[in-house]
Parts: sequence; structure tokens; C-alpha cells
Amino acid sequence: MITSAKSTIPEILRKQKDFFQTGQTKNVTFRLEQLKKLKDLVINHEKSIIQALKADLHKPEFETYATEIGVIKEINYAIKHLKTWAKPKKAAVPTDFFNYSAQIYPEPLGIILIISPWNYPFQLMISPLVGAIAAGNCTIIKPSELAPHTSNLLAEIISNAFPQEYITVVEGGVETSQQLLQEKFNHIFFTGGTSVGRIVMEAAAKHLTPVTLELGGKSPCIVDTDINIEHTARRIIWGKFINAGQTCIAPDYLLVNQKIKQDLITALQKTIKEFYGDEPASSPDYARIISPRHFARLAEFLKNGEIISGGDSNPEELYISPTLIDHVSLTDPVMQEEIFGPILPVLEYTDITEAIALINSQPKPLALYLFSQNKKLQAQILQETSSGGVCINDTVMQVGVSSLPFGGVGDSGIGSYHGKASFDTFSHYKSVLKNSFWLDLNWRYAPYKGKLSLLKLIIR
Ligand code: NAD
Repeated sequence: MITSAKSTIPEILRKQKDFFQTGQTKNVTFRLEQLKKLKDLVINHEKSIIQALKADLHKPEFETYATEIGVIKEINYAIKHLKTWAKPKKAAVPTDFFNYSAQIYPEPLGIILIISPWNYPFQLMISPLVGAIAAGNCTIIKPSELAPHTSNLLAEIISNAFPQEYITVVEGGVETSQQLLQEKFNHIFFTGGTSVGRIVMEAAAKHLTPVTLELGGKSPCIVDTDINIEHTARRIIWGKFINAGQTCIAPDYLLVNQKIKQDLITALQKTIKEFYGDEPASSPDYARIISPRHFARLAEFLKNGEIISGGDSNPEELYISPTLIDHVSLTDPVMQEEIFGPILPVLEYTDITEAIALINSQPKPLALYLFSQNKKLQAQILQETSSGGVCINDTVMQVGVSSLPFGGVGDSGIGSYHGKASFDTFSHYKSVLKNSFWLDLNWRYAPYKGKLSLLKLIIR
């Protein structure tokens, strides 16, 4: 376990608790200054961020800008709205409370633990941090050990910019994560797989610590006949193969109306070539798999169904080409767990009710995609399925809209963040009721004799 100033975890926590008690982080001007500092930090280290992501995931510079450095948009959004969010809000009182006033005060929770994954290793640390800062908390961040270059970079730049008692990075693997989870925090924000999510929640329960769990799952993508086929193919291929498919909201598998299936497959095959050329291995725009272990898991999936595009792999390069698979069955391993890699099974349906029944027989997904201009079908899917979010006629773009809360439901997660939802996640909304002394009606005081009829009148 490495911490930025070589303190132990209990020492860091004690320092953060003491600092939080000073009340400095509650000051809205202070929070705004820290958000601006964070923004400068990202801008000033753009080059190093790009290098780190290249080293960890072979991530193309364009993708690093769009999906990692692009977190600046979240910081800007928080800077723009923070003063409004942080203001106490008036609440209405019933007429029989006419002499009272009511307000809701957002207050910071205290010390936050953020545990993040390796797939968008920069953005998935900074984005929740924006909410934690905006809401006035102190934060400990545990990056993923599987993206060591990004983890090291973040530890270095955070420790240069912020005092340890306010924000710090604790680097390390599973053991470090477990050591952190033994401590009592005021909130744990975890992004990662569903099975580790369970471990985090169990550890948090011991301290009655609230959790946000940003998990994964198999996000289906329904393709109806009423579409622009070229646009559909491009939006699916982009969302699936960005970051080599290692995206929590990537379309996991397609559910295509059988009438359009062959045309769609042709368009998808053509689009893969347009995007990555005949040899995606030499494309500068295509990422790699994070580790040999993850590569081996994905390589097994290549044995399922019939490969109709790609299917090439190279363990030394951790490379798997953008792959389409036809004729998979629901019992194939590729349909039994989240794929989280550049392999896209194409399933078909004849009636939309079959597609809906399949989705509803699985754990609730993080995202659901529908390609169709048919308004009735759009309404039916929204009405009859449940998922963390839905994006119609596109993929992945929902993550970029700060006014939309981002999170899962059921097995895909608990809670949400982005924009105001991040502020809410890291705040407690304290209800405050205020009476005055100008009047003191005695209808509620003992002796109660003769007062019940008045109480009944008020209640009814
Ligand atoms: P992971 O669950 O293996 O690891 C995430 C973090 O948990 C890491 O920091 C790791 O060190 C720690 N960890 C791992 N095992 C642990 C244990 N036994 N006890 C305590 N901590 C432990 O996830 P990953 O492989 O890094 O990421 C992939 C998963 O994350 C996918 O399922 C993906 O869908 C999901 N994900 C979700 C989102 C989202 O926003 N909902 C975003 C990205 C990734």
C-alpha cells in the first residue's frame, strides 16, 4: 500500500476528520476555488494524462480527450451551478403550521471514499470527486491497480495540488481496498463489477455507511426496422468498440428485428472497416485489453457462435479485433456475463415481445438502447422494461449530459451521480423547522380533555 505522504490509512482518516471539523470545506467560496484548481490540474496535465492512458490501455488521444479529459465539462457544470445547489431551500408548511417556517439545508457528509475501476481510470476518479468537493467533503480516492500509470499520475498530481487532510490518493490493489473498507467513512462511492460491489456493501453495512454502487451488467441494444441503417451501424460500432469495448454502458449484445438483421450485419461489417481499416491491429484509433487475465477471459468468448467479422487476437499485444458473432445461444458463456470487451453478439427477434421478455428475464441492465423512429415502440420499451438509463437512436452519449443522473438499478447499481445528482449523492439534506414566540396555541398540550374534536378537524 502506497499513500501520497506515507501515512497509514487510520492516520489519513484522523487528519481528514480533524480538517473537516474546522469547517473550511463547508465554505462555498472554498469549494469553488477547489473545483477551479481541479480544472486547472486536468488542463495542465493533459499531455501526461494522454501518455498514462496510452500506457495503460493504448487509448487513442482522441478517446482520451473525449472520455477522460472531457470530465472538465462536469467540473464546469458544478462551478456554474454550485451556488444555487448549496443554498438552503424553503419548504412549504401546512396551514395549521402557519406560525412555522421550514427550510432544507444541504450539508456535506464528511469523509468520502471513492474506489474506482481501470476502464476509464482518470474520469471515473475525477467525476465523483467533483461531486464530493462541490458538496463540501474531504475525500480519499483508491484508483485501480490495473491502470498503474494513471493511478501513479493521479496520486502525484493530487498530492501536489491538495493537502492530504483534504483530498488524497491511496494507491494499491485489492488488499488496500479491503484495508480502507475496514474503516468508517461517511459515504463510499464504488465503481466496478457487481460481485465486488456486494463485498463493498457488506463492509459498509458494518459501519452503517451509505454507499453508491456504480456497477455493470449486460446492456441490450434493440434494433427495429424503422431506422436509418447507416447511422445506426455507426452509432453501434462507435459505442461498442470505443476503448475496445471496455465500457460499462457499451451495448453488450444486439437484439435485431429478423427482417433487418442481414442488412444491419452488412452495414456493421462495412462500418468496422471504415473506422479501423482492414487491419484494426495497426489502427492508431483502437485500444487494447487491460491485462492478460482479461484477455484470456475474452478469448474464450471467441469460441461461441459463428464469427462474422473480426475474431483475430494476439495475446502478446493484448489485442482482440472488433468482432461480431452470429448464432449465439443464451446458454453460451458470452451471454452469461457482461462481455466488457470488443465482442458483439447479434441476436434476433421476430416480435418485440420476445425481445422484451428476454431483457426482463435478465438482471436489470445499466443501459438500454433502442434504435427505432416508431414512437409507439419507443413508449412500449420505456413502459415495459427497467434499466439504469435509456438512450434512443444512439449509444453511450447519455453519459455526457450532466443534467441526466447516471446510475444503475437492481444488479447494475444503487444511487446515481453527474451534475446535480453528484451534489445530492454527497450531501445530506437537513430538514429544519422553525417556530417563533409570538403565539403558543395549547391545542396539543395536556390535559387533552375537550381537544380531540379540534385535532380530528385538523387531521381530516
Ligand atoms: P472491479 O470490481 O474488479 O474493481 C474495482 C475496484 O475495486 C478496484 O479499485 C479494485 O482494486 C477494487 N477491488 C477489486 N476486488 C476487490 C475486493 N475483493 N475487495 C475490495 N476491493 C476490490 O472492477 P473493474 O474490473 O476494475 O471494472 C470493471 C467493472 O466495472 C465492469 O463490471 C463494469 O461494468 C463496471 N463499471 C461500471 C461503471 C459505472 O459507471 N457503472 C463504470 C466503469 C466500470
